[in-house]
Amino acid sequence: MEAAQDLQSRELRERGARVLVGGVNSPVRAFSAVPGDAPLIAGGTGSRVIDADGREFTDYILGYGAHLLGHAPACVLDALRGELDASWSFGCTTASEIVLAEQIVASIPGVDMVRFVNSGTEATMTALRLARGITNRNLIVKCDGGYHGHSDALLAQAGSGVATLALPGARGVTPNSVRDTLVVPYNDPDAMTAILSHHGEHIAAVIIEPVAGNIGCIPPDPGYLQHLRSLTKEYGALLIADEVMTGYRAAYGSAALALGGSFDLICLGKVIGAGFPVGAVAGRASLMEQLAPLGPVYQAGTMSGHRFAMAGGSAVLGTLSATEPYEALDAMTSHLVTEGAALLEAKGIPAYGTKRGGMCTLFLGIGEAHSYEDVKKADTTLFGSYHAHMFQHGILLPPSQFEAVFVSRAHTMEDIDRFLSILAEWKPPSMRS
Ligand SMILES: *Cc1c(COP(=O)(O)O)cnc(C)c1O
Repeated sequence: MEAAQDLQSRELRERGARVLVGGVNSPVRAFSAVPGDAPLIAGGTGSRVIDADGREFTDYILGYGAHLLGHAPACVLDALRGELDASWSFGCTTASEIVLAEQIVASIPGVDMVRFVNSGTEATMTALRLARGITNRNLIVKCDGGYHGHSDALLAQAGSGVATLALPGARGVTPNSVRDTLVVPYNDPDAMTAILSHHGEHIAAVIIEPVAGNIGCIPPDPGYLQHLRSLTKEYGALLIADEVMTGYRAAYGSAALALGGSFDLICLGKVIGAGFPVGAVAGRASLMEQLAPLGPVYQAGTMSGHRFAMAGGSAVLGTLSATEPYEALDAMTSHLVTEGAALLEAKGIPAYGTKRGGMCTLFLGIGEAHSYEDVKKADTTLFGSYHAHMFQHGILLPPSQFEAVFVSRAHTMEDIDRFLSILAEWKPPSMRS
């Protein structure tokens, strides 16, 4: 019986390897940085997913953070059922787009208008084009390890996927397409001051993940986001908060605002589409009105504002408030990283735990970390052994030290305690007899 089930994943993996590049449609799914085969998922509900062989896992990937309420929550199922019979894509506007935009405007101060796109990548591409169109400047500044999707200009020194695969940069990205991209270390206010004082009048925008999420979870140092706000104001550059991951996950609405920072344009994705393809650029009316059809900055999309993503996202946002579910998520991620780091230390492994709302990271082999340079020193071999152990015991973690770990409203403290007791049983390689 088990052998027959085993065949299911193995057979699918073999078929997949023939017709999908690396068996996947996004590189990190290949699990190249950890031992063992990549899982083939059959389905999920709440905090759990089941693979093609019927094995159950507690899911800490959660569609890379998209499933804030867990898999297939009743509110999203109900919302979709209500939409299904009316068909789902028209090349014309539907009410679902207006409703979700209204919810975003109502929950993020400083946002008057929204443009929906199909991915986080498109959101950041659009935000950059808009910033360049508005300022009539070319340069953009990003942080080392900041991931803003896979568009050419933003793929310079871009964290997790690129870091995990140890790509030297990315082939196929021409020097010209990254010529206007300047890169500074994250959480380094002096480096940001230096680059703005040197290139200030040519800089269209600074784009930042307010809580870095694609080098593992690294919150901003106190005062850093405020510093970016005043610097960009001083030099007339726009500040773009890329909250594709952190929006409605690290905090209700914008994590930048929750942390005392600010932005001119905000990019959203993941949670606002409830796990359907989505992205959004939003900001105050005077900036957003520069987009076509009101303004000269062109942007378009056949599937933009797709009804399933809009209705699903709307159902999720309808359940949220400033505290719900953020207090519960924060309690779970706090418990996970505090106790997790203590367990690792007890095994003689230096560890550093970080968290913000429903995202967190346990770094292995390093102490405190504030930047990509710091987290690069983490022990990825040790991480591989830890990941494989957790996987064998039914804990599905993102397959890289440099990906954040996610919890959902469907997770419970019991889930976290189970995570910790499985971690406690892990025998690091050096401790094996
Ligand atoms: C996931 C992510 C993106 C890219 O979103 P896609 O939907 O994968 O294109 C951009 N920025 C950040 C911060 C992200 O976490």
